[in-house]
Amino acid sequence: MVCPRQKTRRLVMPSQILLSLPLRAAQRISVHGDPEGKVLGAKRSMRRIVLFLTALALFSAAAIAQQSAPAPTAPANPEFLKAADEVLADVSKLISLPVKSPLKKTVRTREEIREFILREVHEEREAAKWYADQRALETFGLIPRGFDLQKFVVDLLTEQVAGLYDPKSKEFYIADWIPIFEQRMVMSHELVHALQDQHFDIKPWSEAARPNDDAELARHSVLEGAAIVGMLEYILREQKISVKDLPDIEQFMRAQMTGQMDKDSQLGKSPAYIRNSLLFPYLAGTAFAQRLLKTGGSWEKFYEVFAKPPLSTHQIMHPDLYLSGESLPPVSLAPAVKAVPAGWKKLDENTLGEFGVHALLKEFLGEARAQRLSPAWAGDSYAVFEQLKTKRVLLLFRLRVAADADAARFFGAYSEALETKYATRAHLFRRPNFFSFETAQGGVFLYCRNDECFTVEGASRQVFDRITRAMRWPAAPRPADTKPAEKIAIVPQAPSASGNASLSAP
Ligand SMILES: [Zn+2]
Repeated sequence: MVCPRQKTRRLVMPSQILLSLPLRAAQRISVHGDPEGKVLGAKRSMRRIVLFLTALALFSAAAIAQQSAPAPTAPANPEFLKAADEVLADVSKLISLPVKSPLKKTVRTREEIREFILREVHEEREAAKWYADQRALETFGLIPRGFDLQKFVVDLLTEQVAGLYDPKSKEFYIADWIPIFEQRMVMSHELVHALQDQHFDIKPWSEAARPNDDAELARHSVLEGAAIVGMLEYILREQKISVKDLPDIEQFMRAQMTGQMDKDSQLGKSPAYIRNSLLFPYLAGTAFAQRLLKTGGSWEKFYEVFAKPPLSTHQIMHPDLYLSGESLPPVSLAPAVKAVPAGWKKLDENTLGEFGVHALLKEFLGEARAQRLSPAWAGDSYAVFEQLKTKRVLLLFRLRVAADADAARFFGAYSEALETKYATRAHLFRRPNFFSFETAQGGVFLYCRNDECFTVEGASRQVFDRITRAMRWPAAPRPADTKPAEKIAIVPQAPSASGNASLSAP
């Protein structure tokens, strides 16, 4: 199962619907062995067996459903509603959150749930934000050009949804096509959300992170991670095993999910970035929640996270840094944004976070290098612009890393990534901390200094110089035969209402 977040990164999908997604991934797994685990050796191996079977149960639920007779068309409403009440009572005890008010719940058809998702996708995020995300992700190279992001996400969520809790109406939507065995697991996950909502009002809590997409993804990961852990506690309740006593469950879940992904599903066909964004809150969020539970020792202690939310996906990916109270200064793009010439409309200014930087490096350089480099993330900011006349995109990205040596490593790696992304390039110019070339989409520049790297994609050299000057960075090296930037007449002007100074477009 699993319930993907609504934000396919930068893509806040209706970040408020908390969906339960069965991982069709695993539909073809068959269950081996006895779920009760007859061969119980040392406690440690018993735990492994229990965990293994739990995961099998989770991932094979859909397979079992397929093997049994076709699902009845008339939903077993009374059975589902009664089950929801039972599961709610159990989960409430397991995660130490008393039921404060009666649960609103309805059984819905797939079509009704699809309509709900469509509505949310339109209501929760403006069309302009979807468009901005699409253009930014295309330019970063994380989705193909011309990819219809919004439509893809709606189809993906509709395919994967197995249940849903809507914090706006405080209502639990029970999917009528999910068999009762799987239904109880889905319920245990969704009802954690219902209880979280009764105690912590999760919609405003998540939205308080806006407009920072990365911080919102971090909060979403708390909600989903806790819901996965709550679901596991429910599944393990009869064995009297708590998730805080289990070894690292994230690695196990990740291996199961990726190993069994159905290649023909919408999820399997997703660009890697979208799939990873969707799964991040369930995987990294689960590891984070498990770690907090192990450290604090109780759910009561865990709930302190609502008063002190993680600030970034960096803290989700490194719970120790969250626990130690790491606080990183923000990375500002304000002077750079102001220096962008008129004629370019700013679509969005936001943060990729460690999750996004990892995705970016992984896309072009593979998992191992992404894994080595991205933990040095210490803050970032990007801004995406569109030229009104041509629809061309200009992307600024400023990254801070932990140390100067990390910036040097990032420079080497990202130079390669940029070359891979732009197959056709001309006028390559390299210095130890500066790299630029020309493409059909405009100039591409990578410039590192101390513990920071800055990229501009889609601008002329003249505009790049103007922007770095506004940031008070020293002029970047330039080929000897080019006119120095100072000789080009640039008249800085007061920022316009849109925040952009005017200057002829590059
Ligand atoms: Zn969820």
